[in-house]
Amino acid sequence: MRTPHVGVLALQGDVVEHVHALERAGADVIEVRTPADLERVDALVVPGGESTTVIRLLGRFGLTQPIVERVRGGMPFWGTCMGMIVAAHDVADLEQDTLDLIDVTVRRNAFGRQVDSAEVPLAIPALGDAPFPAVFIRAPWIERTGPAVETLAERDGHGVMVRQGNVLGTSFHPELTGDDRVHAYFLSMMADA
Ligand code: GLN
Repeated sequence: MRTPHVGVLALQGDVVEHVHALERAGADVIEVRTPADLERVDALVVPGGESTTVIRLLGRFGLTQPIVERVRGGMPFWGTCMGMIVAAHDVADLEQDTLDLIDVTVRRNAFGRQVDSAEVPLAIPALGDAPFPAVFIRAPWIERTGPAVETLAERDGHGVMVRQGNVLGTSFHPELTGDDRVHAYFLSMMADA
């Protein structure tokens, strides 16, 4: 049996930070740019970036359908910030295409503009007692969750970390801190899958 590989979508966004954090957490990582790359991975991380751009690029690179099929078939998926927007059921007040992998409505840039970006100590009981240093950069919040969705963390009364089975979403950027607990959590989802 070959070693499991974690893919990081590498079309746009903070790819290399995720690659390094996953490697620190013990994963073998493959950057995903094509459907052939996707076939080699057992899980997929979509980093932060710009969601309208990435949705367009996914279509152009022929990745939209293959990703949807793999994730609906049970492949673990984690979207951070832009990646969570891409995975959402829909986007509040915007006609924006999404992959509809997790039953949430997100609101883009909900915590304010670039100048309002912040590092916030966040309580995430699933990761233990120590607060997580959560970096928010023009971050979305979760405005609605479906019945199958578990909210793992909130900021100011809004969901910022959610999970529905094999799909994980975070509004913040765990790849930008030295704290790799969310990456380790995702690897444990992969081990369970
Ligand atoms: N504001 C971006 C968007 O809506 C997300 C920002 C990020 O990923 N850091 O696509």
